[in-house]
Amino acid sequence: MGESVKFLLSEDRMPRSWYNIAADLPAPPPPVLNPGTGQPIGPDDLAPLFPMALIGQEVSADRDIEIPDPVREIYRLWRPSPLYRARRLEALLDTPARIYYKYEGVSPTGSHKPNTAVAQAFYNKEEGTKRLSTETGAGQWGSSLAFAGGLFGLQVDVYMVRISFDQKPYRRALMETYGARCVASPSKETQSGRAILEKDPDSPGSLGIAISEAVEVAAGNDDTKYSLGSVLNHVLLHQTVIGQEAIAQMEMADDYPDVLIGCAGGGSNFAGLAFPFIGEKLRGGRGPRVIAVEPAACPTLTRGSYAYDFGDTAHLTPLVKMHTLGSTFVPAGIHAGGLRYHGMSPLVSHLKELGLIEAEVYHQLECFDAGVQFARAEGIVPAPEATHAVRSAIKEALACKEEGTARTILFNLSGHGNFDMQAYTDYFAGKLEDKAHDEAALGQALSELPQVAAE
Ligand SMILES: *Cc1c(COP(=O)(O)O)cnc(C)c1O
Repeated sequence: MGESVKFLLSEDRMPRSWYNIAADLPAPPPPVLNPGTGQPIGPDDLAPLFPMALIGQEVSADRDIEIPDPVREIYRLWRPSPLYRARRLEALLDTPARIYYKYEGVSPTGSHKPNTAVAQAFYNKEEGTKRLSTETGAGQWGSSLAFAGGLFGLQVDVYMVRISFDQKPYRRALMETYGARCVASPSKETQSGRAILEKDPDSPGSLGIAISEAVEVAAGNDDTKYSLGSVLNHVLLHQTVIGQEAIAQMEMADDYPDVLIGCAGGGSNFAGLAFPFIGEKLRGGRGPRVIAVEPAACPTLTRGSYAYDFGDTAHLTPLVKMHTLGSTFVPAGIHAGGLRYHGMSPLVSHLKELGLIEAEVYHQLECFDAGVQFARAEGIVPAPEATHAVRSAIKEALACKEEGTARTILFNLSGHGNFDMQAYTDYFAGKLEDKAHDEAALGQALSELPQVAAE
């Protein structure tokens, strides 16, 4: 028998609580502000949009937040998720590096997103919500919330970014299979959507626009709450099952990562893997280098401003301090739809400012190159988003080869690409282009950032 490539935890080692990094931070992140008054918002301001339990988690300072039994019961359908050592990829690259990946594609919808969708649906059901409205980029979040909402008997309305709606019809079919309603955004159903369509009838949409539509629907209907698949503190919190499991699995492998890597759209899968490791470091333990990877078409952490901004295009959300390209910035239509968001999670942004994490940026073609290399070595086709993490891990492994050092690399394979084969088809046909962000459009969007007196 050769050495192990797969590290599985027994069910009883699935985490019993989520890890809240706010408890260990040297300084708290800046407060969320009411755009009208410029003052910090309170729980009541968020009550039209979210159930109180999630608002409580959003501002909690407790380190460990217990996972309710009904949520753990559903997690057991796919958790603990496996951690692999990528021995065939190592051999292919002829690197002395040890490459591991945590695989979140084993969930029913094929990504990390059900980790929070199930929790959010649970708390909404408990507090009497009848319908959830949400946005989706590539369709992974929409299908995850459709799955979770279905389990708890909630109606789910999904506003799907137009370009993905057209590129990824199977994701839409998946949402409908779970019983959800899926609408292309910008749509004519909301004021926010109609305003965009008036200016640009062919708008490819963006997560910022779709969020406006979903928030508008929740704010205007008493029985409806809004649900977000990334960015917010409670979403990142729910994802920390990933990193907690990975810590135990690296122990099984008798190894420890020197470098941790995750792709970052709104920051949730990245944080889910990284925060439990960073927490150990903040509490005086060891800690790896941590790298967030983003697309050149939407380089939020690397090229954005760290400033107060709206989370959506129509400015219906509170103001959060984050790395942002400006809420009016519409990223080019790349296939990694889940990474096309103008902002970044305030917690991830804060860690970047504190120097606890780094950021890298890659173009889409080199990411697909890496994704194909990975698939041919390891058998799993990565989601276009996840190819960004693969690209960075391969770069790190090749640097090890160059230097003749054997570092341990752990990356999050946030999802599989089985619903993204059109993207791979386009890649093989030579139809994919590298799309960097438009510098003039970025300058324009940044010049429109809201003025905040408190800064
Ligand atoms: C949604 C998604 C992402 C990006 O979202 P984050 O909140 O940054 O994790 C990355 N990978 C996959 C597979 C996704 O579905």
